[in-house]
Amino acid sequence: MAGEPQADCLFCKIVAGSVPATVVRETETTVAFRDINPQAPTHVLVIPKAHYPDAASLAARAPQLAADVLREAGEVATEDKVAGSGYRIVFNTGAGAGQTVFHAHAHVLGGRGFEWPPG
Ligand code: 5GP
Ligand code: ZN
Repeated sequence: MAGEPQADCLFCKIVAGSVPATVVRETETTVAFRDINPQAPTHVLVIPKAHYPDAASLAARAPQLAADVLREAGEVATEDKVAGSGYRIVFNTGAGAGQTVFHAHAHVLGGRGFEWPPG
C-alpha cells in the first residue's frame, strides 16, 4: 500500500531507528538528517516518514506530505544559517539522474557556491 514501510529500504530503516543517522530535525511526518557523504558544508536529507519512491509519486499521492518536506527543507536551511546566502533543494529522480535511494528525499545543500547548469 502507498506509504507503507519497505523492509529493504535504507531510509525506512533510518525512520525506524534501526540504522543510525545524525538527525537535525524531526516532525510528526518528516525526518531531516545529515548526508553520510556531504557534497557541501550543509548537506541534509529531508524525508517523509512514509515510503514513496520519489518526489513526484509523493506529491501525487500525498501532497500535504510533499509540502511538509519542502517546509522542513526551508527550516533546515534557516537553522544551518544558509538561508541568507542561498541554498539548493534537489530531488534526484530516477537512476539516470543520480537517484540511488528510492525513498523520496530532498537534498538541502548550502554553504558554498553552486554552478548552473548543474553537472
Ligand atoms: P540520491 O543519490 O538517491 O539522490 O541520494 C541518496 C543520498 O543518501 C546520497 O547523497 C548518499 O550519500 C546518502 N546516503 C546513503 N546511505 C546513507 C546512510 O546510510 N546514511 C546517510 N545519512 N546518508 C546516506
Ligand atoms: Zn523507504
